[in-house]
Amino acid sequence: MIKIMIDLDETIVSGGYLEFLNEYLGTNYKPEEIQEYYVSNILSPEENEKYLTHFYKNVNVYVKAHIIPNALEVIKELNEHYEIYICTAFFDKRKPEECIVMANHKYDWIRKNLPYINPRHIILTSAKELLMCEVKIDDKVSNLKRGYGKIKLLLTTNHNKNYTKEELASYGIKRVDNWLEIRDILLKGEV
Ligand SMILES: [Mg+2]
Repeated sequence: MIKIMIDLDETIVSGGYLEFLNEYLGTNYKPEEIQEYYVSNILSPEENEKYLTHFYKNVNVYVKAHIIPNALEVIKELNEHYEIYICTAFFDKRKPEECIVMANHKYDWIRKNLPYINPRHIILTSAKELLMCEVKIDDKVSNLKRGYGKIKLLLTTNHNKNYTKEELASYGIKRVDNWLEIRDILLKGEV
């Protein structure tokens, strides 16, 4: 069976990080105002350090995250035809000790929302390029451009929207804007 690697954050779920940062700061930043991959990088290094300590101690980002439209329905359908692996990174080099709590939050969310996925197919790693999956779906270009993959789909989000079609094509990556497009490519296309 053909294997698909699917990322979690900004691929299946979105938000949470900015909502908690706004709550902490008493601000009202909108997603489109922030180009950073890590939203808290808009803070000064000292403030960011303080915020991250608070974040890893108190926050489960998935409480405020929302599911990207059609993601769960399409994954369920893909599961009939493909071997699905959910692959998500939890390691944060800014907080190497504290970040381990994210592994728990992610694992719990996946078990609860994608209960039919074999727990052995939940992969918590930052070294996504090591995975030998024929299809990869992610929102981060660096996760797709290195390593194996016959079909590499980049789901459009704020931090990746400036990559041109040509630049992505040079990495073997195709941009998709939503899960219905992914469905069309993987269930109606010739894979
Ligand atoms: Mg992601």
